[in-house]
Amino acid sequence: MANPGNSASSRDVATLLHPQTNFRAHEKQGAVVIARGEGVRVFDEDGKDYIEGMAGLWCASLGFSEKRLADAATRQLNTLPYYHIYNHKSHDPGIELAERLLALMPVPMSKVFFANSGSEANDTVIRLVWYYNNALGRPKKKKFVSRQRAFHGSTLMAGSLTGLPALHREFDLPLGGVVHTDCPHHYRGALPGESEEDFATRLAENLEKLIIAEGGAETCAAFIAEPVMGAGGVVVPPRTYFEKIQKVVKKYDMLMVADEVICGFGRTGNMFGSETFGIQPDILVVAKGLSSAYLPISGIAISDPVYQAIADNSAKVGMFGHGFTYSAHPVAAAVAVETLRIYEERDILTHIRAVAPVLQDGLRRFADHPLVGEVRGVGLVGAIELVRDKATKEAFRPDERIGPRVAKAAETHGLIIRAMGDSIGFSPPLIITADEIDQMLARFRKGLDEVWAEMG
Ligand code: PLP
Repeated sequence: MANPGNSASSRDVATLLHPQTNFRAHEKQGAVVIARGEGVRVFDEDGKDYIEGMAGLWCASLGFSEKRLADAATRQLNTLPYYHIYNHKSHDPGIELAERLLALMPVPMSKVFFANSGSEANDTVIRLVWYYNNALGRPKKKKFVSRQRAFHGSTLMAGSLTGLPALHREFDLPLGGVVHTDCPHHYRGALPGESEEDFATRLAENLEKLIIAEGGAETCAAFIAEPVMGAGGVVVPPRTYFEKIQKVVKKYDMLMVADEVICGFGRTGNMFGSETFGIQPDILVVAKGLSSAYLPISGIAISDPVYQAIADNSAKVGMFGHGFTYSAHPVAAAVAVETLRIYEERDILTHIRAVAPVLQDGLRRFADHPLVGEVRGVGLVGAIELVRDKATKEAFRPDERIGPRVAKAAETHGLIIRAMGDSIGFSPPLIITADEIDQMLARFRKGLDEVWAEMG
């Protein structure tokens, strides 16, 4: 047996700072060290297999062993491992990726900017929108409206757009210029007896009140939303929500920004969540599934009116003074191009639509479990919210850590899922089969029943 003092887990604890982690808890429990992947499964260093119920972080759409992506990376590494697109330079992988992305867009878009992560992409959106409104001679029109429980990333401005207290507390966030409106979670936010449609109407009215209170069209620049909120607990918007919200956004001449970092490339059963929910974005952000997460890359697509304004301004100022060393990195771009080819060749949407009911019906079979308050989801994303009392929807206290306990119990049965508070998220690789979904849910049931029995 390996010397425990020198195990990968203890070396991890000695050296690594993990994102979004309680460091003291990590020192005690150590790390699950993942050694390899195959299809929808990953294996730890002892060879134990786990179904990856979250596709990593909602991202490894093609699973963990797609050889064509490895080959695309290798080919590009052997041809042109790096080049930039500053100073009027370019390269074929970047160009082809932009062409393919624009061809997929749910509404006509004009140009694409590439970054490396969802956070950088959303920070870029803020810079773009500020620059755009300066270009149009509207220097006061700069505020972003985001939503409580939104997740848009972790950099200073993307973290400010995020509406999760844990991302703000002790970090002096949010920074100015970002305000948050209601989270569209009907189960938690609706008044007694309020229909989804009435809830959506009330939220649109609240949005309008907030915009007016913040200075109206003169100061409010953009509204940003994930079509389905991901890290906030998989919140599927109530019926008619985006239609009503969008009317308000347009009324105040604000730009609509769709953060499709999770929803993009099929997750909700259409290529983009914007199609599933009738959103007509002026700016659309992608990452994660763009490269099936095999290499870091994100993209921001902008409409032609936005492009024309910033293009004029770049001529006036001398440049659009924004960019990254790795914008459109050729190896990441080549992997993303190959990813998009695979989605098309294998008709990933038809597959998703075929297996989505297996996931959604399977999740809904948990609705009568004594610990389950709500089951929600669409396409290949869903969540189960655990409650103390089904009738009153009373939640557990955060320190009871029921969600993390269930996730940990599921892990011992070979399933990796994500506890977002007491909402357990499911977002498996898009290639998952009906049979694998059944296995995933069977493993989950074992974990859930075990925690329920312990609570006895
Ligand atoms: N936007 C959404 C909707 C996300 O879910 C995430 C990450 O989970 C981000 C942005 C940030 O992406 P990244 O972690 O690549 O910075």
